[in-house]
Amino acid sequence: TPTTLPAAGATPMMEQFIEIKAANPDSLLFYRMGDFYEMFFGDAEVASRALGITLTRRGKHDGQDIPMCGVPVHAADDYLQKLIGLGHRVAVCEQIEDPAEAKKRGSKSVVKRDVIRLVTPGTITEEKLLAPSESNFLMALGRVKGGAENAYALAWIDISTGAFRVSETTAERLAADIFRVDPKELIVAEPVFHDAELKPVFDMLGRAACPQPASLFDSASATMRIARFYDVATPDSFGTFSRAELSAISGAIAYVEKTQKAERPPLDRPEREQAGSSLFIDPATRANLELLRTMSGSRDGSLFKAIDRTVTGAGARLLADRLMAPLTEPQAISARLDSVSFFLAEPRLCEGLRAALKGVADMPRALSRLALNRGGPRDLGGLRAGFEAAAEIGQLFAGAMLPAELQAAFAAIAALPANFASHISSALGDELPLLKRDGGFVRSLYDGELDEMRALRDESRKVIAGLERSLIHETGIRSLKIRHNNVLGYYIEVTANHQDIMMGSDGAKARFIHRQTMANAMRFTTTELAGLETKIANAADRALAIELGVFDRLVAEAVSHADAIRAGAAALAVLDVSAALAVLAASEDYNRPLVDGSLAFRIEGGRHPVVEQALRRAAESPFVANDSDLSPGENGRHGAIWLLTGPNMGGKSTFLRQNALIAILAQMGSFVPAASAHIGVVDRLFSRVGASDDLARGRSTFMVEMVETAAILNQAGEKALVILDEIGRGTATFDGLSIAWAAVEYLHEKNRCRAIFATHFHEMTSLSAKLSRLSNVTMRVKEWEGDVVFLHEVGKGAADRSYGVQVARLAGLPEAVVNRARDVLHQLEEGEQSGKVDRLVDDLPLFSVAAKKEAPKPAKSDALGDALAALNPDEMTPRDALDALYRLKGLA
Ligand code: ADP
Repeated sequence: TPTTLPAAGATPMMEQFIEIKAANPDSLLFYRMGDFYEMFFGDAEVASRALGITLTRRGKHDGQDIPMCGVPVHAADDYLQKLIGLGHRVAVCEQIEDPAEAKKRGSKSVVKRDVIRLVTPGTITEEKLLAPSESNFLMALGRVKGGAENAYALAWIDISTGAFRVSETTAERLAADIFRVDPKELIVAEPVFHDAELKPVFDMLGRAACPQPASLFDSASATMRIARFYDVATPDSFGTFSRAELSAISGAIAYVEKTQKAERPPLDRPEREQAGSSLFIDPATRANLELLRTMSGSRDGSLFKAIDRTVTGAGARLLADRLMAPLTEPQAISARLDSVSFFLAEPRLCEGLRAALKGVADMPRALSRLALNRGGPRDLGGLRAGFEAAAEIGQLFAGAMLPAELQAAFAAIAALPANFASHISSALGDELPLLKRDGGFVRSLYDGELDEMRALRDESRKVIAGLERSLIHETGIRSLKIRHNNVLGYYIEVTANHQDIMMGSDGAKARFIHRQTMANAMRFTTTELAGLETKIANAADRALAIELGVFDRLVAEAVSHADAIRAGAAALAVLDVSAALAVLAASEDYNRPLVDGSLAFRIEGGRHPVVEQALRRAAESPFVANDSDLSPGENGRHGAIWLLTGPNMGGKSTFLRQNALIAILAQMGSFVPAASAHIGVVDRLFSRVGASDDLARGRSTFMVEMVETAAILNQAGEKALVILDEIGRGTATFDGLSIAWAAVEYLHEKNRCRAIFATHFHEMTSLSAKLSRLSNVTMRVKEWEGDVVFLHEVGKGAADRSYGVQVARLAGLPEAVVNRARDVLHQLEEGEQSGKVDRLVDDLPLFSVAAKKEAPKPAKSDALGDALAALNPDEMTPRDALDALYRLKGLA
């Protein structure tokens, strides 16, 4: 958020503010003042609007009022959450010295402050700010010149869990690879950010894309930066990385250092992902298929929501990762499917596992918070609960015959640090406070001195209670109380009417020392009470100091075992996902797909996973299962193309999508909603389904459709799966038909991939005579008393008509319009046969009322007017417009 700042010449505090703000121009500055974080100038205006809090003023600067707003420190997380959610970055500026120190320097001197942390969408760790089942990736793009070509790499970190991965990419794949990971923040070196060629990619990310100084990405100093971060002599032991990868890794680490300041999150060593080891899905397809979110941005209605049966946050994140990056290696896919099969065959183990996992807190996130000095006793408690569950699960599965993936998981679980687990169990009490400074979280019998101090403290409290009783007895004041507050410590309180007793006699006068007079009470102390007070305070202080020491030691121990803990937690997530997919398969009747290296694509009784569940929830008629087969025929070397016709609302889009989704589910290692499925690995998945408007970027629907179709025709290879819906819908009929026609020919002859092509142009069905691997299929409908009934069944052959009029009637078009449309249609169909379509305008009056008033338009004489009326300037490129102009001139 850029904020323009007034020039200097300010109060010392304002001067400090301006200086700190200047160093953090792209963040809102949370400036600590006592119990508030305050914002000034433009920041205050932006934040007050975003948070719905009052904008006020504080003093003047350059003769102008200074806009200001503030949020209380104790509620800061909630406000941060909102700001981060809106895509803002926040610099948290704290007082870094005791105000007393500043006073010593002189009365005018300001308390030293500094930014201790930048809170950005990609670098948060707080439980409140994070969605439990979503990863929170920060991604860095590295680009280096390699000869004539640029080399690209992406590195992505989830600092809330420590996950760190890196992969090479290309300019062409860049958008797909970014959207696969779905980062909350992408940082890019400034010069790269302003590269016109890449601009569309960054535009798609909006605020999440963030330019950073190029020095962060310098590949020459990258090795040094990485070595320093991990405290190793050289990062060579992590593997060999290309220069682009080193640049991306360095950028990510530098940004973590920049935002976290003094604290170091425990990050995994960067793990290299082989480029192309996952199914390539371009961003448009990803959005169209609504994998993690629907087009409108909600999780409800997404594929993820429909298939998620995990019981832990880490499990849900792993499931989402897998869904976003299905595999392309049949063996690896089979290994995952074996795990699901195992749990299906062992329902008792499956249920036992899930029951044990339910108690598991988010271990990696707890660990990261502890390491970043933002954790509390409950985070240690989270680790303890994880260790206990892991031990229980280990016992539950002892002796089971495990498939390879689960064997590896149990090896990691067995490698969890047992000593630390028992240490933490013996040290940590049952009830844990949120904040360590509240104390009381260390178990008794753990530390002798702590127990002693607590006894002393509690003992003295008992002595005080006894003292109160004896004072009541002695003075005869039944309402006498011994109370405590932070100013006086322990004191004796009596109501004002007992003043005489307390201050009257000499003996009492000497004994009760008057401290305070309130409206109707008086407060006293005694030397005895003061002595007890000191004893209690000392014991409590000492006890807390001991507890904090224990806390720090446990945290240090946890951090020293960070790798093992994270590996064990990752293994628990694998178990969670495998068992959840088994539960899904059993409850939703999914079956194990056969995935191999062939070009087969044969699905029997396939269903759409999301629509199926939605229909059931709405208690509508059940989903109609459909077959598909795009496998090469006998001795064929290439997959087939299905040309799908059928009326609107017939179920075409649903059928198209379900085939794409089944491929994704199979390759991510899940069972699929089908009676059977044989899928030869798909390497690239393309879909062009429905109209996704991109008017914000000044492109018409038709333009977007063509851009996406172009991408598909240029990129799809023989192992691709292409799903195209209604190409050519957005333009005039003959234009549209010609484009769709040519696209199918191209897919058949050049791409030679497996494809389903839905169209409302029935003319295209004649292509099957010419193209050997093309078959016609259609969504079956039944006509019944003039209405159309959708059967949602895919059958061989072509639709004979569109039923558009019937569908329009179902939608509630006025009866008069429906009847008129039916007449027009009739005439048109006749006209087509007799070649006299033109008669229509003359013969058929419009609605009889209107027709009398309006002179009928001469049919042929106004060709220019008609051509003019057919133009839609909003959908034309400048080139189109020019062509049209010439055409019009020709008609004149
Ligand atoms: P089209 O793309 O042909 O216009 P849709 O795929 O959008 O049709 O489907 C229209 C509606 O029909 C959907 O909202 C869905 O509820 C229902 N539908 C589609 N396919 C099926 C099916 N196989 N079984 C049951 N209902 C279906």
